[in-house]
Amino acid sequence: MKKALISGITGQDGAYLARHLLDNGYEVYGTYRRTSTPNFWRLDYLGIFDKINLISADITDFSSILDAIKTSQADEIYHLAAQSFVRASYESPIATANIDGISVLNFLEAIRLHDESTKFYFAGTSEMYGQSVQYQKMKLNEESPFNPVSPYATAKLYGYWTTRIYRESYKLFSVSGILFNHESPLRGLEFVTRKISNEIARIHLGLSKELRLGNMDSKRDWGYAPEYVEGMHLMLNSKTPKDYVLATGESHSVREFVEEGFKLIGKDPEKYVKSDKTFRRHIDFDLVLGDSSKAQKELGWKPKTSFRELVKIMVNEDIRRWEKWQKGERFSFDAPYYKEMEMKKRGREVLE
Ligand code: NDP
Ligand code: GDP
Repeated sequence: MKKALISGITGQDGAYLARHLLDNGYEVYGTYRRTSTPNFWRLDYLGIFDKINLISADITDFSSILDAIKTSQADEIYHLAAQSFVRASYESPIATANIDGISVLNFLEAIRLHDESTKFYFAGTSEMYGQSVQYQKMKLNEESPFNPVSPYATAKLYGYWTTRIYRESYKLFSVSGILFNHESPLRGLEFVTRKISNEIARIHLGLSKELRLGNMDSKRDWGYAPEYVEGMHLMLNSKTPKDYVLATGESHSVREFVEEGFKLIGKDPEKYVKSDKTFRRHIDFDLVLGDSSKAQKELGWKPKTSFRELVKIMVNEDIRRWEKWQKGERFSFDAPYYKEMEMKKRGREVLE
């Protein structure tokens, strides 16, 4: 039986990847960071919590990573853990550099010293292209120039180059996926798609009256996360280690996401959506568009879920969650957020 170790298993991609690997007969290990209340709601939501071997580890600490690798004896390592929100990387640039950048070196060094045959996947990102998107308005592929413009992107670029250097210098099977935005009902609430689907669900059920957003003209290449984790698996199981872009090749604006979502609940967005400067960024990209033809040709990977289907999946799932919440039924949720809502609804006694 093949063994896989996933860092960031409690995140959106980590949870979907864990399910995919379990479905493919893997024994799955996952590292999570030790906190007073670990964040296992996504694993619970997918019904796989009991099937995972969880290892508490600090990805910024070499010994901790070496221990996790020794414990799991993994054939494949997927390093997904990251401070993944661009805006937050301005608030904690040094922590982001350690978590998103230096951690990659910890994994690669540990692999080099422990077992060089271990395959390694690093979660690269379209953010590494940065400003070049603005200048060229073209579909970005593996050959496009990088021009990072945030602490998040520079940290990821460090991880990307280090992964490449270890492949070329030490002949490790170490690759990066350059993934464009991918979303799902498991997406964090700070990202715009989930923020929209969540608020539309609340408006539909009479729990909210407005949706406050920043730049609505911004366009993104939004795919469906469960399909992207399949791409990661294909990359580690192809003959030759290579970096690949995963993207849909279509872009849609935040406004289109809002309009599609409001259509589903039969309401006029004009009455609910408010522009809010707080959510505007100093540097933002108008357009992010990727070209995944290399992955499609060489890995047989293909994005399947359309933009409209994606909006529907996300809005419907958030409606289902809030309906359960209203009925007081148990469900897997983004714990602190719903708890805050619960506190507002019933007063402080709910927490006592
Ligand atoms: P999430 O934000 O949903 O998950 C991030 C994971 O990293 C969580 O498990 C989180 O743990 C963990 N993490 C955060 N900070 C630390 C830390 N200091 N130490 C250890 N673990 C930490 O991200 P996604 O699943 O969406 O993304 C997975 C990877 O892919 C990330 O590296 C992201 O940067 C990258 N990526 C994502 C894209 C997307 O559109 N989703 C696009 C391109 C790249 P906890 O649950 O405890 O917070
Ligand atoms: P990103 O592409 O990784 O930065 O993903 P986000 O989901 O955070 O942002 C996507 C786009 O939505 C960016 O261009 C944001 O400026 C834009 N946007 C508009 N309003 C909001 C908002 O309220 N929250 C977030 N997160 N993004 C917003």
